[in-house]
Amino acid sequence: MSPVDTARSTAAAVRAGERSARSVVEAHLGAIGERDGELHAFNLVTADAALAHADEIDAQVAAGHDPGPLAGVPIAVKDNLCTAGVPTTCSSKILDGWRPPYDATVVQRLRAAGAVSVGKTNLDEFAMGSSTENSAFGPTRNPHDTSRVPGGSSGGSAAAVAAGFAPLALGSDTGGSIRQPAAFCGIVGAKPTYGAVSRYGLVAFASSLDQIGPFATDVADAALLLEVISGHDPLDSTSIPKPPLSLSSTLQQGVEGLRVGVVKELLDAEGIHPDVASRTRAALEALEGAGAKIEEVSVPAVIYGLSAYYLIAPAEASSNLARYDGVRYGLRVDAPTTGEMYDRTRTAGFGAEVERRIMLGTYALSAGYYDAYYGKAQKVRTLIIRDFEAAYERCDVLLSPTAPTTAFELGAKADPLAMYLNDVCTIPSNLAGHPAISVPFGSGDDGLPVGVQIMAPAMGEATMFRVAAALEGARA
Ligand code: GLN
Repeated sequence: MSPVDTARSTAAAVRAGERSARSVVEAHLGAIGERDGELHAFNLVTADAALAHADEIDAQVAAGHDPGPLAGVPIAVKDNLCTAGVPTTCSSKILDGWRPPYDATVVQRLRAAGAVSVGKTNLDEFAMGSSTENSAFGPTRNPHDTSRVPGGSSGGSAAAVAAGFAPLALGSDTGGSIRQPAAFCGIVGAKPTYGAVSRYGLVAFASSLDQIGPFATDVADAALLLEVISGHDPLDSTSIPKPPLSLSSTLQQGVEGLRVGVVKELLDAEGIHPDVASRTRAALEALEGAGAKIEEVSVPAVIYGLSAYYLIAPAEASSNLARYDGVRYGLRVDAPTTGEMYDRTRTAGFGAEVERRIMLGTYALSAGYYDAYYGKAQKVRTLIIRDFEAAYERCDVLLSPTAPTTAFELGAKADPLAMYLNDVCTIPSNLAGHPAISVPFGSGDDGLPVGVQIMAPAMGEATMFRVAAALEGARA
């Protein structure tokens, strides 16, 4: 893996005129050219646009203007974020040929901060999956071991950062899709509070759970990127009417006196490997060594999180994906009647996992079953929120493994249920709308990275990032 400069040091050098944005972008395009054939982190590399943008930034610096806090920093953008005039595929055949007429709010904010997009990254089709194997364009491989998956669904973004293709990337997280690939690839990934980052221009999977968030090689870079993309956006009705998050200034305040709870039910959850559990305990001890007060806490309802999620997320997806019918977006397979055209288009356009979710969700929402499935799942969601509330009366942040294991082999989880079990630790924060971050903390028995998850109550990002920075600093 090529070592990368941090986004902070790159931006500082570009802003000071010590390094040209063009040279930075060229170096990263070179790394992509060398290794992306093997990894397939990108669906599309926008080299010409990136170089042209870098030149604009250099011209701004030469003219005495400040291009912004991410001046000249290359960034990889998950391919479910709309980019004006640039194909946005969601790694699905159904969006074949579609070019959005507008940029997602986060993409606009990146540009305003001087970041340079180098391309669109691979994902599980419509962000449904935990390995990036569900992409219609073939899987992404883990840069640490190419026989392994990078995690998912934002596997392309995580692999891009871990491989040194870009110091920063954006992902989306509906049930763990930023945190789990960050853990598998040995980098930092955060899911913000629901509403902290605008979803405008994020292709919807499960709208009550989806959030966009940062990937970076360290906690401070992730904080900086989240500051840039957060803050109120009138174009997203669920956006919290607050200014951007302020994280960097308190990052180094340490954890003295903070109360850190380890969630018993997640540490003991089905499938958590002993080496991952022991790294999580080591993280707890490291935080204790840094001055935090640690305790074990119970959040009983989290064990039902997986079941609730796999009703709520497919239910919302079945509704969100109804719009891909061959009329307005992308693929269309013609047929004698409109009904058959819908049928053929959707059959040709969607992969197996997306079809499965649409069927599950349609069933869960159908008359006669609604209360038994969707209604019950919503009640579980409320229980989880209540249990978290009780835990946060005693603790400032909560800790758990990010994923049950280190990165698994491609093809190892052919059974969809086995794949779903990967999300046991990440899903509760999505159901509650709370922020959570994965920080690398050593490696498993197989030598692959392990991630530890830090969770916080809604809008508790500043404390969460402080703990993350302390944990990063305590790493052996
Ligand atoms: N792995 C989960 C799923 O398949 C989460 C995906 C995500 O966060 N986008 O639904």
